[in-house]
Amino acid sequence: MSATTDLLDFDGQLSEAERDVRDRVRAFVNTRVKPAIAGWYDAARFPAELIPELADLGVLGMHLTGYGCPGRSAVEYGLAAMELEAGDSGLRTFVSVQGSLAMSAIHKHGSEAQKQKWLPPMARGEVIGCFGLTEPDSGSDPGSMTTFARRDGDEWVINGAKRWIGLASIAHIAVIWAQTDEGVRGFVVPTDTPGFTATPIAPKMSMRASIQCDIALADVRLPLDAQLPEARGLRAPFSCLNEARYGIGWGVIGAARDSYETALDYAGRRMQFNQPIASFQLTQSKLVDMALEIEKAQLVALRLGRLKDAGRLQPHQISVAKLANTRAAIAVAREARTILGGNGVTADYSPMRHAANLESVRTYEGTDEIHTLVLGAHLTGIPAFRTAA
Ligand code: FAD
Repeated sequence: MSATTDLLDFDGQLSEAERDVRDRVRAFVNTRVKPAIAGWYDAARFPAELIPELADLGVLGMHLTGYGCPGRSAVEYGLAAMELEAGDSGLRTFVSVQGSLAMSAIHKHGSEAQKQKWLPPMARGEVIGCFGLTEPDSGSDPGSMTTFARRDGDEWVINGAKRWIGLASIAHIAVIWAQTDEGVRGFVVPTDTPGFTATPIAPKMSMRASIQCDIALADVRLPLDAQLPEARGLRAPFSCLNEARYGIGWGVIGAARDSYETALDYAGRRMQFNQPIASFQLTQSKLVDMALEIEKAQLVALRLGRLKDAGRLQPHQISVAKLANTRAAIAVAREARTILGGNGVTADYSPMRHAANLESVRTYEGTDEIHTLVLGAHLTGIPAFRTAA
């Protein structure tokens, strides 16, 4: 935010290094994304040509250390997510899937050989990864997944289906979560393995500048060392989801801020009744409410980041940010759209695109309802994810 709109001097909470990361990513988004995003969105095209530039910017596997990863702090990663999502949620989603899901699965749960093989080219953007947990009949309840990996001599054989898998049709590897005789396990599946197919889901009304796919796994045969040796049970994919959810808590503020700034600028220029619409008290009330929500969301995200950097972040705290900040962002984007009047429904202005994208963000990585239940269980000690038998 500019000095006049950063009501609480959020900038003053950041170190010089943090502001530097933020400013570099913001400059990239302003020059490379904002001028073209409406066209990509309209054409439902993911701008894969930006991947090398995102790698040079150091945002792929940004908060991971070693193996050629940038090794930046949690706050720096969060600030980058916020700036990317000011361009488009699809761009931040790409970075989340590559870094927080696919790379972090290998970083947290892979063998030394898997880390050496995959992480350096993934940080360079030469190898793209995806993360396959959700299935057609298994979304909020991943424990109900039916994709199955069975041992056949010195091979694994995987059969099943995944749905909504980001980047799968352009990915080189897929981290696939499957039931086995010993519980849920993770596998690194090269996407050119016979029996693996990925089909983009279309048409979508949200996240149009990004890719999500259906995956079919038909007798996909893998060597034993394709299994992630440290991943045991659903805790393993959940540990990766927590990384991505952390980034979302920051990212959505970018979409809200861009919506707000667009509305503020428009309100100062648009004349009705011989005066700028910004001079009407009702418009000012909307702008003030938006600014307050953005300020609060930033402070929530920063608190989370500082806790994460101190190694003290708890899973339920991630739910606070995912739920509260996404809810605030979607309200801000929708309110910003009203200030733009009829022009707000065109692709010339960002708020309606952000609002449509945020519908996906409130659903993936745990829906509003699931995070409410996580927090409900934390506050009351009573899990309410299923009704009593
Ligand atoms: P459901 O689980 O069927 O939920 C439908 C509704 O029921 C929701 O409102 C939900 O909150 C509610 N509900 C469910 N259970 C309860 C309950 N116990 N109490 C109250 N309400 C409940 N998945 C991946 O594995 N990898 C990806 O890369 C990925 N990317 C995605 C990108 C996009 C754009 C989208 C839209 C989804 C993506 N997903 C991905 C899947 C996403 O995580 C799921 O859509 C999400 O977990 C919800 O699952 P579902 O769609 O099956 O909805």
